[in-house]
Amino acid sequence: MPHILIAEDEPRIASFIEKGLKSHGYTTTTVGDAEQALSLALSDGFELLILDLGLPDRDGLDVLADLRGQGSSLPIIILTARDDIQDKVSGLEGGADDYMTKPFRFEELLARVRVRLRSVSSRSASETLTLNAYNVVLDLRTRKAKVDEQWIELPAREFILAETFFRHPGQVLSRQQLLDRVWGYDYDPGSNIVDVYVGYLRKKLGNSLIETVRGVGYRLKT
Ligand code: CA
Repeated sequence: MPHILIAEDEPRIASFIEKGLKSHGYTTTTVGDAEQALSLALSDGFELLILDLGLPDRDGLDVLADLRGQGSSLPIIILTARDDIQDKVSGLEGGADDYMTKPFRFEELLARVRVRLRSVSSRSASETLTLNAYNVVLDLRTRKAKVDEQWIELPAREFILAETFFRHPGQVLSRQQLLDRVWGYDYDPGSNIVDVYVGYLRKKLGNSLIETVRGVGYRLKT
């Protein structure tokens, strides 16, 4: 699976991105400053860079300029709290492939990561594009689910929740883990939204597919 470099000096955000990407099968390396970001990004070991602009030693835009100046064509997604249009323009004109502002939802970052990785490598047919459990198939390209030979549409959030379960069959996932992965780091942890969405999935994909583990969370039956 693609190896993604994350340049982010805020540990909470870095680990949020890392956890999310890992749970979707990506390999990640995180660095907290511009100097390391630059040297690793030039090392050829990565398929994508997620770049914060407010790094402690140098500005992320400098890292971008250096990389492009040295001929690197590594896909770069800028992820920053700066929502100034001038920064956005500088980033995109400086050769970034995408620009995303914080706060952000993991789901959106993941979608953008997938787009960037798809546009560089035409995916081979052998790569996993469907996930199965019981009589249910998830198609990661069309983002539809097949239940008893019938294709159904799932809204984005429900699909990501289903995908999270399908990638961890048999593993108990706590409400907090599901909130982190599906809704983002800034979601109200007291909310019952996870239970509500598990209810939606049970209705659509079958009642017995996702088990409740009392006091802990949920688990996809194996
Ligand atoms: Ca920062």
